[in-house]
Amino acid sequence: MQYPEPIAKLIDSFMRLPGIGHKTAIRLAYFVVDMNKDDVAKFSSALKETKDKLMYCSICGNLTDEDPCVICRDKTRDQSTVLVVEQPRDIMVMEKMKDYHGLYHVLNGVLSPIEGKGPEDLNIKSLIKRLQSDEAIKEIIIATNATPEGEATAMYLSRLVKPAGIKVTRLAHGLSVGSDIEYADEMTLSRAVSGRTEM
Ligand SMILES: [Zn+2]
Repeated sequence: MQYPEPIAKLIDSFMRLPGIGHKTAIRLAYFVVDMNKDDVAKFSSALKETKDKLMYCSICGNLTDEDPCVICRDKTRDQSTVLVVEQPRDIMVMEKMKDYHGLYHVLNGVLSPIEGKGPEDLNIKSLIKRLQSDEAIKEIIIATNATPEGEATAMYLSRLVKPAGIKVTRLAHGLSVGSDIEYADEMTLSRAVSGRTEM
């Protein structure tokens, strides 16, 4: 027997999410069937708004519903430091730590020859343009993950930016090799930022 079409579609949609197998997708689909109409409406509009209202900040590349994003608009933040991260979600992690009050730049990935990702596929051009046009920026802190790709990206950026007379630092290796910023606890991150070393 086949699933009724709406349920089959729902199962198919859930299976597209990371970490969701067939059994879990079925369980979630039947859970939705049992949800009340209001909650389903809220859920579906949240999904839709994610695509309709979100954009990338034209300055830093962060995900935002207003351009420029709330961090780039905040003139009380330290305008001399830019922390460079791989993904928008890394900013959320850094902000939760509450010890960093500078600006950010999102690369949207790392250099990866295996995945065919070169410098032109990352937000590097916009970073260089930003450093050239904004004289207030004195230091960039590279906070790519401690993976081989993250390290290679940090080296690449350092070589690119240093000749312009901007200080380039790297998060201290409180983070173990191969670990992702998004899984680090606040204490470790805080120590990694304060103990950053010049490249
Ligand atoms: Zn921004």
